[in-house]
Amino acid sequence: MKKIIIVGGGAGGFELATDLGNKLGKNQEVQITLIDKNSYHIWKPLLHEVATGVLDEQVDNIYYAAQALQHHFQFTQGAFTNIDRDNKQVVIVDSNNETISIAYDILVIAIGSTSNDFGTPGVKEHCIFLDDQNAALQLRELLLSKFADFCSNTNKFEDKIRVAIVGGGATGVELASELPHMVDEFGTCRQNGMCSDQLDISVIEATDRILPALPEKTALSITKTLENQGIHVLTKTMITKAERDGFYPKEGDTIKADIMIWTAGVKAPDYLKEIASLESSRSNQLVVKPTLQTTRDDNIFVIGDCAYAMQDSGRASPPTAQAAHQMAKICCSNIIRMINNQPMKSFKYTDNGTIISLHDTAQGVIKLAGKSEMGVKGWFAMIIHRLLYRMHQANLIGIFRTIRFSCASKVMYKTKSSSIFTKRN
Ligand SMILES: Cc1cc2nc3c(=O)[nH]c(=O)nc-3n(C[C@H](O)[C@H](O)[C@H](O)COP(=O)(O)OP(=O)(O)OC[C@H]3O[C@@H](n4cnc5c(N)ncnc54)[C@H](O)[C@@H]3O)c2cc1C
Repeated sequence: MKKIIIVGGGAGGFELATDLGNKLGKNQEVQITLIDKNSYHIWKPLLHEVATGVLDEQVDNIYYAAQALQHHFQFTQGAFTNIDRDNKQVVIVDSNNETISIAYDILVIAIGSTSNDFGTPGVKEHCIFLDDQNAALQLRELLLSKFADFCSNTNKFEDKIRVAIVGGGATGVELASELPHMVDEFGTCRQNGMCSDQLDISVIEATDRILPALPEKTALSITKTLENQGIHVLTKTMITKAERDGFYPKEGDTIKADIMIWTAGVKAPDYLKEIASLESSRSNQLVVKPTLQTTRDDNIFVIGDCAYAMQDSGRASPPTAQAAHQMAKICCSNIIRMINNQPMKSFKYTDNGTIISLHDTAQGVIKLAGKSEMGVKGWFAMIIHRLLYRMHQANLIGIFRTIRFSCASKVMYKTKSSSIFTKRN
């Protein structure tokens, strides 16, 4: 029996496991196993909503074990640590904290990325990184405890709670724009008069503008939207050090902060660098051929943020959910072709645009056929942004269950009237 192991059940790996399970899982000659360190999946682009309570992780999660049962694959919970290529085994630390090896014929690595502190002193020690659902929940707890602390003992703070977010990419901008509403909701629910005026939020970016993936005009318009929300956007501000009291820029005064968040840059996890002598990039991603197989081992595929897939443009595909989804589709097709001894397809990244959600609105660009760009904003952009999430869900659980999921979310948000969470979706 051929054993296919997929490590990482995120935007790319979970779609791949489900797709392969549906296509090959009933075949007695193939066994598909998904390995993830967590027991459930949350779509990573929504982590800022988990952190600010807009999204309830208990409603919008999908348990891997349940999905495996319905889509003909197996699930093992454990943290991947190494590959033994000679014996074709992956090494994991399972949920009982024991190190075990699992044999594979075909291995897919899809473990995503982590924040990149670029070696900046003090960042690891003093900042929160929005890397996974546990970090998002930890950030939510920290925010809530600071708000509560502020209400009961304002002496501990300057006149406001200062939140500094380093990184003017999608993660930093989307998180910043949700925070004022989280505080307003908190104040309303606790009837304590606390409101967004008591929050001082800064988005700090080293280059001369935020959102480099978007056209300058759109990025400037989003900057204005943030500033209208009372958020400071500090560009050309290179952080050289973080300490307990705040961020230290190369030039200018210390940016004092009570809550420090780092969202600048991504890299694949450090342990992936040259793992099992595979070729890796400067940001630890494993280098793949157009078929998404690693350059040094045809039995190992890599997809998503941890893959370094060079494109005709001379640049690698970006670390986005969009690319992870497209890679999952090609990888599924290539694994089936490999098993059937057929020629494989090449992965070519298609940029369909970028939309940034800004609490109750959104803005960005979509790419039309022929590659022309169209700017979108307001409710239309918001709908497209939400649709992207629902499309990911539909890939996993089907359209009808996605509609039921979406209705269930709405009912749950409305029912939880005592929560601090904004009611949307
Ligand atoms: C706040 C935020 C907003 C974003 N917005 C957008 C957006 O609007 N559009 C867009 O296209 N992209 C966006 N992104 C980027 C997008 O989330 C990622 O590019 C995408 O999730 C990558 O998919 P992946 O499958 O490679 O990894 P992930 O989705 O990160 O999945 C990795 C999986 O691997 C598991 N894992 C990790 N390490 C191990 C291990 N050692 N052992 C076992 N399992 C492991 C994790 O638990 C996880 O399930 C955003 C990211 C963030 C944080």
